[in-house]
Amino acid sequence: MMRQYELVEKVAAYKPELDEALLNRAYVYAMQKHGSQKRASGDPYFSHPLEVAAILTDMHLDEATVAVALLHDTIEDTDATRKEIDQLFGPKIGQLVEGLTKLKKLDLVSKKAAQAENLRKLLLAIADDIRVLLVKLADRLHNMRTLGPMAPEKRARIAQETMDIYAPLAGRMGMQDMRDELEQLSFRHLNLDAFETITARLAELKERHEGTIAAIERDLTAKLKENGIQASVSGRQKTAYSVFSKMQRKALSLEQLSDIFGFRVIVDSDEACYRTLGIVHRTWPMVPGRFKDYISTPKQNDYRSLHTTIVGPSRQRVELQIRTKDMHDVAEYGVAAHALYKDGETSGAVHLSKESNAYGWLRRTIELLASGDNPEEFLEHTKLELFQDQVFCFTPKGRLIALPRGATPIDFAYAVHSEVGDNCVGCKIDGRIMPVVTELANGDEVEIICAKGQIPPQAWENIAVTGKARAAIRRAARTQIRKQYSGIGQQILDRTFARAGKMYSREALKPLLGKLGHREIEDALAAVGRGELKPTDVLRAAFPDYQESRAARAAEKGEDEGWFNLRTAAGMIFRVPGRSKAKARTNGRAIPIRGAGEDMPVRFGPDGAVPGDRIVGIIDPGKGITIYPIQSPALTAYDDEPDRWVDVRWDLDEAMSERFPARIMLSAKNEPGSLAEIAETIAINDANIHNLSMISTAPDFTKMVIELEVWDIQHLTQTLRQLRAKPCVADVTRVNG
Ligand code: MN
Repeated sequence: MMRQYELVEKVAAYKPELDEALLNRAYVYAMQKHGSQKRASGDPYFSHPLEVAAILTDMHLDEATVAVALLHDTIEDTDATRKEIDQLFGPKIGQLVEGLTKLKKLDLVSKKAAQAENLRKLLLAIADDIRVLLVKLADRLHNMRTLGPMAPEKRARIAQETMDIYAPLAGRMGMQDMRDELEQLSFRHLNLDAFETITARLAELKERHEGTIAAIERDLTAKLKENGIQASVSGRQKTAYSVFSKMQRKALSLEQLSDIFGFRVIVDSDEACYRTLGIVHRTWPMVPGRFKDYISTPKQNDYRSLHTTIVGPSRQRVELQIRTKDMHDVAEYGVAAHALYKDGETSGAVHLSKESNAYGWLRRTIELLASGDNPEEFLEHTKLELFQDQVFCFTPKGRLIALPRGATPIDFAYAVHSEVGDNCVGCKIDGRIMPVVTELANGDEVEIICAKGQIPPQAWENIAVTGKARAAIRRAARTQIRKQYSGIGQQILDRTFARAGKMYSREALKPLLGKLGHREIEDALAAVGRGELKPTDVLRAAFPDYQESRAARAAEKGEDEGWFNLRTAAGMIFRVPGRSKAKARTNGRAIPIRGAGEDMPVRFGPDGAVPGDRIVGIIDPGKGITIYPIQSPALTAYDDEPDRWVDVRWDLDEAMSERFPARIMLSAKNEPGSLAEIAETIAINDANIHNLSMISTAPDFTKMVIELEVWDIQHLTQTLRQLRAKPCVADVTRVNG
């Protein structure tokens, strides 16, 4: 284990005026806090932060970063607190250590390769300082180096995560060595057989060709110089993992893969690329079929380079990539390189929304860090503000959902699936029930609570920030309203057809749709429900030779006088005098009740309600609002569902008289003409009979339920009084009155 003074000396070697006391304090504090804790290998736990610190000294980072490395596991794994660290080391270091603690929590979430890109973004969004990322990568590197003693499943999980998330992240940041080592270590744990086979083969080839590879590099550099070409030549043997992934990509066997040595030649102009190629081809024999000119014909992704493979003196193949610095940048950063270099150099706080730019910026930052004279100041003023406009949350199963900043669980639900959004009634964030309007934070685990048959409240449309959620909420509301109106339309048609003595079925509507000017049955029904399509037009379309009765015509015209057919529950038909009954009942829009939603169809419970009654509304998902008098026993069924209750009150327009339904129960003597007398009494009182059904028939009395339409409670009371006064009426009461 590295001693305290050794660590200080290592930093002092590249940073003479360092704050030694800070390093010493951090060393002692972390050592004491981790105390007797052990790693899986049995080593003292403190060896781990110490090694992480050592990795960072190799990258010549400032003492603050090295101190953070020493402290990086203290908040998570010991009784150390942010407050204590702030007091001992200052709030800046406290903030960095806390940043690492936050990142560590992410490791606990299951991850899938498919969402690796979003996980990398989440990491960048959470790490608000570049030092947090650097310590995190060094931490991961040391953990990968010492993965051996872990349980096999844990090893596999960590190796996979490293392969999917951290190695590519290091690559994007331009830390190629870090990337190579992370990949190699992961590869070894994920596929030991392949790793060993390829490593053995590479070692064998290396031994056989080492001398000649060095000779080629020497010769090439010298020849280019002779010809006046300024070039940087870098050669390396490919890693076992890069050989393996090439075998996978191109479906090659190990024997077919002989070009495991490669050189990259970077020159300063397109012309120099071709001149270099000429020199290479004059010096060594080329492998036929391997030459590619991606300069004159760039790849789809804008990649440009000359590729060729030559055969060296001991017949080994060597691959060469020849390109300019610009081409190299494009190869490394992708197309974003163009934009980056047009901007010129920028430093300090940079906010880039495009991801490729963000990675490019990150990489240049690391480059500046590596070459900078004053890394401390640079680090202090470099804020990572990457992907701050996004927020990344998890489903309970570990799926990562990326949302715009400011998103709520409503957006989350719709991002998971529009059905989940439509049925969302609540949510849990990190296991706690929270309001669905809570603003989500990075790393939140969100569980959506669903209930079938819900309608998203229209108010959500303004809360949602994602277009997907907004559109879905609007669509659900529209569908719902159409459904409500088509339900009403269906009822109206049922009655209209029944009155005409005709059979009605939805199917029978199908061939009529063209005639009625609608494409779908639901649309036609909704049009009837909204009053845009007359039910009798539908009837006439279905039965062109149907002759309307006088009553039906009267009903349609809304005439006050006339006779109606009344069908009883037993199927008897009476002709009774009365006013239009089609008028007040059926039109969902017309019932003037305040408190009901604008687009919510309102209907009455089976016993009706009349002005003067105290009323309450019950929301019926899929149907609208049902109005009950407050004394109605039916309401007890909703006692446990307080969310369904709405406060409503009458909102009558004096100028626009409306009728309202009320149900009465009546016992009448079985005498000839008694039913006619009852009907007449009701008619004289200006109360409509909407329906009449016989409940029981004893030899002397008939009990019946009559649905009336009245102006208000006084009108109802007066009608009841008049009925009671009739000798044929034994008893009459309002049902549930
Ligand atoms: Mn650690």
